[in-house]
Amino acid sequence: MLTRRALLAFGLCFASPVLAQSPPLPVVASFSILGDFVREVGGSGVEVSTIVGPNGDAHVYEPTPADGRALARARLVFVNGLGFEGWIDRLIAASKTKAKIVTVSAGVATRQGEEGLDPHAWQDVANARRYVENIRDALAAADPERAALYQANATAYLAKLDALDREITTALETIPPARRRIISTHDAFGYFSARYGLEFIAPQGVSTEAEASARDIARIIDAVKREKVAAVFLENIADPRLAQSIAAQTGAKVGGTLYSDALSDAKGPAPNYIEMVRHNVKELTEALGVRQ
Ligand SMILES: [Zn+2]
Repeated sequence: MLTRRALLAFGLCFASPVLAQSPPLPVVASFSILGDFVREVGGSGVEVSTIVGPNGDAHVYEPTPADGRALARARLVFVNGLGFEGWIDRLIAASKTKAKIVTVSAGVATRQGEEGLDPHAWQDVANARRYVENIRDALAAADPERAALYQANATAYLAKLDALDREITTALETIPPARRRIISTHDAFGYFSARYGLEFIAPQGVSTEAEASARDIARIIDAVKREKVAAVFLENIADPRLAQSIAAQTGAKVGGTLYSDALSDAKGPAPNYIEMVRHNVKELTEALGVRQ
């Protein structure tokens, strides 16, 4: 007679090859950081293609016919929302995709930048958590056969994000309060700033679509001279000349390159979200910390 446990074991043995044979779910993520979250949660269950790749600027991206074909094939399309991908609605319409569109920022507490909604919610690890939960729920709903896989992957990754959040707080505590005001190129670190207590000032707004005006740059130069600004940071997606010019005109130190809206390539310092945040925190603490 078969025991309940043996029946369960038999059931599992029977189920596994069936699961293994289901082809991975084709999904699209709009930009590299989001692609990393989807790969973490989806694992072997998904085949992810990313529209805006490493070091790419999603604010000003121009979609290609290949992007339309990837959307047409996809079962799910993951987007940040909050106005980050201004080109996505037209691309979705043009592709005639039947994919479900999943806005991963749904449920985060949003902030306003100087001229509009700030889309860079992923820079606060608590919001990244929400992104991962939304991805998990969307994958499980679209592909119930592998729901347990997505659940397990998400749980493991969320634990890593919790550890990362604590790591950031501890590392940034070493920066003296007087050295917590810094310049970046565009206003991409508002959520990071709000959670971790550094003040970012930027010549460009929450999008890179409009170039910084002479007045914006003059305002920043005044701020650097008037207030104690510890360093000017470059961004991986931005032309370094603006930040370098501000540093040259004010004598402020150039603090290094922060990854704002995109990962690096696989060989760079920010090949995934966790490494990206660690890299940014390392750049900040090295430039601003007391061990100079
Ligand atoms: Zn941005």
